[in-house]
Amino acid sequence: MLAIRKPGFLNRLYLIEIIRGLWITMKNFLFHKKVTLQFPEQRRDYSGRYRGQHYIKAVNGVENCTACMLCPTVCPAECIHIVAGERDDKEKYPVKFEIDSLRCCFCGMCEEACPKDAIKLSNIYEMSQQNRTVYEKDFLMEQRGNK
Ligand code: SF4
Ligand code: SF4
Repeated sequence: MLAIRKPGFLNRLYLIEIIRGLWITMKNFLFHKKVTLQFPEQRRDYSGRYRGQHYIKAVNGVENCTACMLCPTVCPAECIHIVAGERDDKEKYPVKFEIDSLRCCFCGMCEEACPKDAIKLSNIYEMSQQNRTVYEKDFLMEQRGNK
């Protein structure tokens, strides 16, 4: 048979539980290290493996990308759009290189597939925006973070 115990007078007031809760709050407030960061003055260090804003590696303003089309092929979100062109020296390059930020899931597969180490994901995490943004080639070539 199920025995139902009636709570005592003190328990019915919840006084002990309230004091215990307040003690935990005060203990954390007074003695524990604060975890809140004063962004943007203070910034959190993310792991080196963090995948943030994309960038295209460029040397002297010339992108490493040879428009081989591997990254749009492996991209599961189909958010990379490249239009290939040819330079005077017959080298292929991306005339247009766009990434739809809203479709991208930051999986990093484009980075892994690239044979030229051209498309990378930086540690830049400030990417909030009010409108749907398509990152274009010139913008992507300016982003690096600390990589
Ligand atoms: S990170 Fe993933 S989803 Fe985003 S562009 Fe690269 S392959 Fe596509
Ligand atoms: S970024 Fe890399 S994988 Fe993508 S088209 Fe350029 S060279 Fe090919």
